[in-house]
Amino acid sequence: MRGQAVTPGTRHQAPGTQRPTPGTQGPLPSSVPSPLLAVRGLTKSFGGVQAVRDVSFVLERGEIVALIGPNGAGKSTCFNMLNGQLGPDVGRVYLDGVDVTGHTPREIWKRGVGRTFQVAATYGSMTVCENVQIALLSRGRALFDLWGRAGERYRDEALQLLRRVGMADQAERPCSLLAYGDVKRVELAMGLANAPKLLLMDEPTAGMAPGERNALMALTAELARESNLGVLFTEHSMDVVFTYAHHVLVLSRGEIIARGSPAQVRDNPQVQAVYLGTGATFRAHAALA
Ligand code: ADP
Ligand code: MG
Repeated sequence: MRGQAVTPGTRHQAPGTQRPTPGTQGPLPSSVPSPLLAVRGLTKSFGGVQAVRDVSFVLERGEIVALIGPNGAGKSTCFNMLNGQLGPDVGRVYLDGVDVTGHTPREIWKRGVGRTFQVAATYGSMTVCENVQIALLSRGRALFDLWGRAGERYRDEALQLLRRVGMADQAERPCSLLAYGDVKRVELAMGLANAPKLLLMDEPTAGMAPGERNALMALTAELARESNLGVLFTEHSMDVVFTYAHHVLVLSRGEIIARGSPAQVRDNPQVQAVYLGTGATFRAHAALA
């Protein structure tokens, strides 16, 4: 079914009016716009453990969606199936209506799916600017061993990305000297190197202080607005989730048990039960709301 155009948006439809499952019913009329990301029935087992079961959702351009759930719920497995690192046992992933299930991470990246790099992916001895240049070089398929000759390549573009994340003034510092929150902003700039239309962020704020978490997500939200970027992120702080997500998907034991606006999810007793004892608090944001 690769390359076939489909229109899998179903979230806003009433029960019983769902469109045919993409990949099984052939293409739908091309006059109906496809969502940026449509996920249908994703399922993945590791040995006897069903890590993800029948996960379906859509994400539109400019939309920020949080995928939440306790540790082991299957969030990272979902992300890895979306970015091509893992193939699903069952289910399909559509980007702009094109079936990209089973495509390699690089193919998916080239189709405009950015991901934030983990700390280990930045080269501490290189400068902030050089790290972003590496990410840009990788987009152009230039090899890392060309770096010596390519040291000036993409410098202007890298500086432009660093300006967007507020890091241009630290462009010449080695990454190893940066504060942790600043490393995260560099990672975000690197995630933007392929001018993505969808950004996947698996625990982007892990290890950050609460103030820094908010600052990084506020920046992400601003970038999403400016560039009409779709964002899917996981996050443990409920305050951050409820402040920045437009929609929330709740995973428990591999299945989506609740979905909706932050307020709907916050008030859902099943969601509160799943989080009971994990230390997550739903009250702080309720007080703000
Ligand atoms: P989360 O990101 O929500 O914490 P994961 O997607 O990492 O959850 O894990 C979901 C379940 O799948 C867990 O039970 C985990 O132990 C299992 N799992 C994840 N990756 C693997 C793997 N590569 N091999 C075996 N089991 C795995
Ligand atoms: Mg995880």
